[in-house]
Amino acid sequence: MKKMQGFEKYYQKDWDERLAILKTATELTADELEILKTAELKPEIRETLIENQITGYTLPEGLALNYVVNDKEYLVPMVTEEPSVIAASSYGAKIVKQAGGFQTIQQPRLMLGQIIFEDVRDAVRLKTTLKAYETEIITLANQAHPSIVKRGGGARWIRIRTLSQDMLSLDLAVDVQEAMGANMLNTMLEAVAQFLKTELKINVLMSILSNYATECLVTAQCEIPVELLQTDAVPGELVAQKIVQANRVAQLDPYRATTHNKGIMNGIDAAVIASGNDWRAIESGAHAYASRHGQYRGLTKWDLKDNKLSGSLTLPMPLGFVGGAISVLPLAKINQKLLQIENANELAQVVVSVGLAQNLAALKALVTDGIQKGHMQLQLKTLAHRAGATAQETPYVVAQLSANQKRDFQSAQDILTKLRKGDL
Ligand code: NDP
Repeated sequence: MKKMQGFEKYYQKDWDERLAILKTATELTADELEILKTAELKPEIRETLIENQITGYTLPEGLALNYVVNDKEYLVPMVTEEPSVIAASSYGAKIVKQAGGFQTIQQPRLMLGQIIFEDVRDAVRLKTTLKAYETEIITLANQAHPSIVKRGGGARWIRIRTLSQDMLSLDLAVDVQEAMGANMLNTMLEAVAQFLKTELKINVLMSILSNYATECLVTAQCEIPVELLQTDAVPGELVAQKIVQANRVAQLDPYRATTHNKGIMNGIDAAVIASGNDWRAIESGAHAYASRHGQYRGLTKWDLKDNKLSGSLTLPMPLGFVGGAISVLPLAKINQKLLQIENANELAQVVVSVGLAQNLAALKALVTDGIQKGHMQLQLKTLAHRAGATAQETPYVVAQLSANQKRDFQSAQDILTKLRKGDL
C-alpha cells in the first residue's frame, strides 16, 4: 500500500506548511495550488450554475486523514463549517487503519426513475400492458440518450409497483456509467412518458428520477480488535460493549436515531460537497433508507464478537464522477485529484467509509469522554474570533477560556480586553 507522507500532526502545521506538504504528496500543479489558495469562484462560473447569483459563498475545506479503504490510502477533502467533524473523521479512520482499514461491497450501480400513472381503473390490466411493452420502453429510453449507450450504459429493466388503487409507478432502471444521471434519467423518462400518453393513451401524472437509489447500494465494513478502543480510563472491551449499546439505542428510538444519522451525514455531506456532487440527493436517499423497515432507525450496525468490534454501514450512494456541477467547479476537479480516485464507484466506497468512521468516532466519544471535550478547542477558537481576537491573540484567549469555568462570549471579550491592556 502506498503511504501518505508528511501528514503526521498535520493539524499542528500552519496553512502554508499544509499546502507545501500537499504539493509534495500529490500531483497538484502550481495553477491548482493557486486555486486552492484563493478558492474563488469566478462570476462567469457562478452565472452558469444558479439564477439571480450575487456572490460566491465559500466554506472551509479540510482534509480527513488516515482513510484506508480496500487497501488504498486516501486523503479525503471535506467541506464543512462545523468544528470537529474533520478531526473526528480522521480519528475514526485512524482506529480503523490500525485494524487494517475498511472493506467495501458495491452493488451493480443503476439509477431509478419513475413514471407515475393516475386515475388507473384496472391496475392489473395496465401492469400487463406495460410489461408487454418493456422492450419498446427500454428502446425508447435509450433512443432519448444514445450517448450513454455508446458509453456502455443505458436503460436495463422496468418494474411496476402499485401505489394505491388508482396509482401505479413504472420504475425504469438505467446504467448511468460515471454520471449521477438525474438529467439523463429525466430525459429518458419524459420520452417514454410521451409515448405512453400519446400512443397508448395512458394517464401519466409525472415522470422524474427517484433519489431513493436502492439499486445503487454501497456497504463499508470494518473489524476492530477491542484493544484499539481503550482509553486511559476505560478498557477497550467495555468501550466496544458501550458502542454496541449506543448503536442499539439508535435502532430503538427515532430521537436518538436522527442525531446518530446526523453524525454520519456530518462526514458524508462534507465529502460529497467537496466532490461537487448533489448532497441533497444523498441526504434524502440516506434518510429514506433509514426508514425502510417502517421506523426511522440508525444507519450503522455494530456487533461485538471474539474481542472484535465489527461495524457496517450501507447506503444508497449515487455519486457522479462527471457531469452536473463536477464539470464546472474547479475545486471539485482538484478534489478528485487529491482523493486520487478513478471513478464514481471508488468515490462512493470512500464516502460510505467516511460515514462509518464518523459514527465510530462519535459513538466512542459519547460513551467515554462525552462529545464536548473534542469539540471544545475549535468552539473556543470560534468564540475568540467572534470576540474580535486576531490570529496572534487567539491562542491566548483560547488558553484562558480553557482554564476558565465560564466559556461564553462575555468571558472571551473580557479576556481580550485584559490581554490588550497588558494585564495577561
Ligand atoms: P449531466 O446532465 O451533466 O449529465 C452527465 C453527462 O456527462 C452525460 O449526459 C454525458 O453526456 C456526460 N458524460 C461524459 N462522460 C461520461 C461517462 N463516462 N459516463 C456517463 N456520462 C458521461 O448530469 P447528470 O445527468 O449526472 O445529473 C446530475 C445533475 O442533475 C446534478 O447537478 C443534480 O443536482 C441535478 N439534478 C438532480 C435532481 C435530483 O436529484 N432529483 C433533479 C434534477 C437535476 P454525453 O454522453 O452526451 O457526453
